[in-house]
Amino acid sequence: MKIYNTLTKKKEEFVPLEEGKVKMYVCGPTVYNYIHIGNARPMICFDTVRRYLMYKGYDVNFVSNFTDVDDKIIKKAIEEGVDADTISKRYIEECKKDMAGMNIMPATKHPLATEEIPGMLEMIQTLIDKGFAYEKNGTVYYRTRKFMEYGKLSKKNIDDLEAGHRDIKVAGEDEKEDPLDFVLWKPKKDGEPYWESPWSDGRPGWHIECSVMSKKYLGEQIDIHAGGEDLIFPHHENEIAQSEAANGKEFSKYWMHNAFLNIDNKKMSKSLGNFFTVREISEQFDLQVLRFFMLSAHYRNPVNFSKELMEAAKNGLDRIINTVSNLNHLIENVTVSEMSLAEEDAFAQTHKFVENFENAMEDDFNTADAITAIFELVKYANTTCTSSSSREYIEDVKALIINLSDVLGLIVEKDDELLDEDIEKLIEERQAARKNKDFKKADEIRDLIISKGIILEDTREGVKWRRA
Ligand code: AMP
Ligand code: ZN
Repeated sequence: MKIYNTLTKKKEEFVPLEEGKVKMYVCGPTVYNYIHIGNARPMICFDTVRRYLMYKGYDVNFVSNFTDVDDKIIKKAIEEGVDADTISKRYIEECKKDMAGMNIMPATKHPLATEEIPGMLEMIQTLIDKGFAYEKNGTVYYRTRKFMEYGKLSKKNIDDLEAGHRDIKVAGEDEKEDPLDFVLWKPKKDGEPYWESPWSDGRPGWHIECSVMSKKYLGEQIDIHAGGEDLIFPHHENEIAQSEAANGKEFSKYWMHNAFLNIDNKKMSKSLGNFFTVREISEQFDLQVLRFFMLSAHYRNPVNFSKELMEAAKNGLDRIINTVSNLNHLIENVTVSEMSLAEEDAFAQTHKFVENFENAMEDDFNTADAITAIFELVKYANTTCTSSSSREYIEDVKALIINLSDVLGLIVEKDDELLDEDIEKLIEERQAARKNKDFKKADEIRDLIISKGIILEDTREGVKWRRA
């Protein structure tokens, strides 16, 4: 299996540190709002990497953090007049709902930065003791030039970086020994959350969080560290500097980065008004469609998001879902139960689709080609499964479609579809809960309905619904 390693800029054969096991860390979101569809890309891509590694038989220890202390969280808390904890807890819960909708497996561990402060104090102290960090007026800085390999991930030359940092004095960080030095610990400002430390009452810098959480839950050396390509510099470069200086070992063997998602060929941004949360998209499409859409492109290629492309993704996914549904229909009505010899031969031929699927995934997780292999299998199912086929043959072909789709995290069998009357009843119950001001219950019912792929619209004439 080949993985493109940002560190070497090459596709490399994957060899785990320990046979049969993979330790993987994916930088998670900062939780100050609903996650946007850009954040969904690394979640979906690296969940798929994890699923394929599991399919290959690896025991995958998958850690992904929530950054729950940050300027943006504090700003939002001040705006709402609540504490930062309320904001981060709320959006962690919302993020987990979106992840479930996208069929992203919960991590083995989802550490929270605020619960890992002792480990951060320890690593910062180690860096100070080893001469890689220093304190000035309560702030602790990393002594970047002391780490000889700085720039090895982002391929940046340290002197070029220096030139770009001339304006640092303006930013009020002129107490640094060198403009390239970055913050490990900073003193609190009024009203901000803080923790006690030997240097000041304050909070950690962002980069140290991941070095520490990765070490605590996966150990000093890991197999794969991943995130969006904007994290290569400075976040991952700084994580390497911290972890390798503190632990004296190579931090991660493979560094994987997804390219960005743009909207209508423009960078997604709040100010351009082309910014979508996953929650907003879930009101128009089943989130399985979003997952299918993301996987239709290779994770290292930029991907463009548009309503038209989502419609195309929906059609693609429906091709698989409809076939599975037809196979179920055939299974209910067949008369022959056991596979004939001719069917055994026909089933043996499905092997080539599995091979195409695996070859695509082995080549740096080419999910686009893997989907093509599933389409080929679907086409084969459509032509070879008929009302005169045996139950065994149809069941085996169906199981293969479901299994390969599942490696991509795509749910293609709708076994718990709500009937029209069930939906009407749930909507009535939700209206009653709203009337009684039991908004919690009303929201729960709404979430349940949405999770079944039903779109609700509150109109003047009452609540209308349709299937996504
Ligand atoms: P953040 O909360 O900004 O730290 O982002 C969480 C994750 O989402 C990181 O891995 C980012 O690289 C990734 N990310 C943010 N925006 C996009 C985007 N437009 N396309 C792809 N990945 C993104
Ligand atoms: Zn990180």
